Amino acid sequence: MADPGGTGRFGEFGGRYVPESLVPACEEVEAAFRDAWADPSFRRDLDRLLRAHAGRPTALTPAWRLSAELGITLLLKREDLAHTGSHKINNVLGQALLARRMGKGRLLAETGAGQHGVATATAAALLGMSATVFMGERDIERQSLNVFRMRTLGAELVPVGTGSRTLKDACNEAMRHWVGSTEDSYYCVGSVMGPHPYPWMVRELQRVIGDEARAQCAAELVTAVPDYVVACVGGGSNAAGTFAGFAGTGAQLIGVEAEGGAAMAFGRVGVLHGFRSMVLQTDDGQIAEAHSIAAGLDYPGIGPEHAHLHASGRAHYFTVGDAEVVEAVGRLARAEGILCALESAHAVAWVLRAAGTADLPSGSTVLLTLSGRGDKDIAALMEHQ
Ligand SMILES: *Cc1c(COP(=O)(O)O)cnc(C)c1O
Repeated sequence: MADPGGTGRFGEFGGRYVPESLVPACEEVEAAFRDAWADPSFRRDLDRLLRAHAGRPTALTPAWRLSAELGITLLLKREDLAHTGSHKINNVLGQALLARRMGKGRLLAETGAGQHGVATATAAALLGMSATVFMGERDIERQSLNVFRMRTLGAELVPVGTGSRTLKDACNEAMRHWVGSTEDSYYCVGSVMGPHPYPWMVRELQRVIGDEARAQCAAELVTAVPDYVVACVGGGSNAAGTFAGFAGTGAQLIGVEAEGGAAMAFGRVGVLHGFRSMVLQTDDGQIAEAHSIAAGLDYPGIGPEHAHLHASGRAHYFTVGDAEVVEAVGRLARAEGILCALESAHAVAWVLRAAGTADLPSGSTVLLTLSGRGDKDIAALMEHQ
């Protein structure tokens, strides 16, 4: 998982497919990030924020009882314990610090379920910046709790009424708005997607998950490196950050998609929101709607580096359905006392299904990233009973 260079290509994927008016803004972000990422004082400032505000390092928890039941050794990387309840804060604090270094006073973001919007509003409040969050009208209706959170944190919410009035429309609108406000505004992307440098930059900001886990596994496992590294994939940022810590080892890398949003399993190569990757499409090439019980996996595309890891055979991708996911939430909760997010439960569901088969033989050691906590999903779980 290398630096994709100036073109932002991961094999045939990635790139920068934006209107000409946005090319200078993307180039400015790339130059600023390259400079910041090589600057020890930026790294120090970010590290301090992650420790003092976001609760890093997050724990590595051996799942003793589930391990015994499944005949494997399962270790959980606990991003559910990070501030705001998921890994999203790692990325957002990094980009907010970068924006401030670039002299921009306002963060623009799109959000679907609201998790990235809440993280962006949090980072803006912490650093004394303003935040404008674009959100589809349908998502605003469905996610009233996160809407209230964002407003309480001081963010301005812009309802998007175009198209299907969901995440992909909010992405379009946020980019359109950025075109006219690049002077004072910074576009804060929520996953390993968007035009170059975002997929690479977000992976680098999330690699703290994998780097920490690598050191924690070395202390926990006789073999030092787990046989399998598993994470759920929406856009793919918690998985990319986790994989980055293990790409140079012999560990098998496994991404788990939602059946109804599985761009890798059911998508075709296409261009979406500024990058080339695998995209869910209708027969005539329109972007298809994704549907999952986990709102954070409801995205019709997947990060370009994942498409490349898949094409090259370095990582493997599986899908699980809503029913398995609901069952996985309960099983993990009862065995380990951890109520995880529906998104994270996709990774758990795959381990439950695969343990003891050729996909995940008995005796294997497994690192699984729990991307978030489940408090936000209680209403969805109650509906499913
Ligand atoms: C947003 C979110 C995801 C999906 O995003 P990725 O970029 O694929 O990591 C997964 N889990 C949780 C808890 C989320 O909030």
